Amino acid sequence: MFSYVNGSYIDYKDAKVHIEDRGYQFADGVYEVFAVINKKIVDYDGHLNRLYRSLNEISLKSPIVKDAYLFHCRNLIRKNKIKDGLIYLQISRGVAQRDFKFPINIKPSLVITAKNVSMESYNSKFNTGIKVKTTEDLRWKRVDIKTLNLLPPVLAKQKAVNNGCDEAWMVDDDGYITEGSSSNAWILINDKLITTPATTSILKGITRTSLIKALKKKKIKLIEKKFGKKDIKNANEAYITSATQFVMPVVKVDNIKIGNGKVGKYAYIFKDAYMEAIQLK
Ligand code: PMP
Repeated sequence: MFSYVNGSYIDYKDAKVHIEDRGYQFADGVYEVFAVINKKIVDYDGHLNRLYRSLNEISLKSPIVKDAYLFHCRNLIRKNKIKDGLIYLQISRGVAQRDFKFPINIKPSLVITAKNVSMESYNSKFNTGIKVKTTEDLRWKRVDIKTLNLLPPVLAKQKAVNNGCDEAWMVDDDGYITEGSSSNAWILINDKLITTPATTSILKGITRTSLIKALKKKKIKLIEKKFGKKDIKNANEAYITSATQFVMPVVKVDNIKIGNGKVGKYAYIFKDAYMEAIQLK
């Protein structure tokens, strides 16, 4: 297994960054996660454009030219013999003596890893659906930027796991669900699909955008509005979306059974529509 670390392909067990990397010291950096299906990258352009937006929002310059990302991602797919799996890409502000203000004249650090994840594990999870635990959204005010600042979602996900759930849905101060700890949140009420609007309070998922595009083609009604626990009680179906989970049905939220507690018919329609709509590169 190889990882890309600052210009070199390094054996996974030897891949290292310095102790004063600002990613490690301050979570001062951004990242992207790309899914790979059949050796091709899913929605590459969407993810890369979001990476550049994230870089721009934290005033960080890409350490390599834009075209080089695809070259390195493809190299890792080939070198690591990835069929279906994930690419993780992280850019931090680089290595410098610890000081809050931006260091001058240092090169940002770039790390890319790629691993296999079987489609069977996704399919079997899809068939049963997942359980969700709600928990307070403790994050900062710019979660639309995909930064390394991930302690609140780490704690949220662990709380979900400690409660026998697979994902956490985070709740804002007004009682609305913002999103999952690492996914966007959706419910379906009376054939209408509802998802939280893409403001600075959520990460605008690339999977979310692709699914919305797919639904438009199928003429399925989508409402982008906030929803809370009482809406979840009325939901016939629910889902999460992310690059790692694609479209994943939710069958329980806290002690609320969604629909009849089984994967609903729209889950299949949405998953198929999404899989048809994705761009592979
Ligand atoms: N929200 C959050 C907080 C996430 O971490 C993710 C996964 N990166 C998503 C939404 C889904 O985004 P995407 O579909 O681009 O993976």
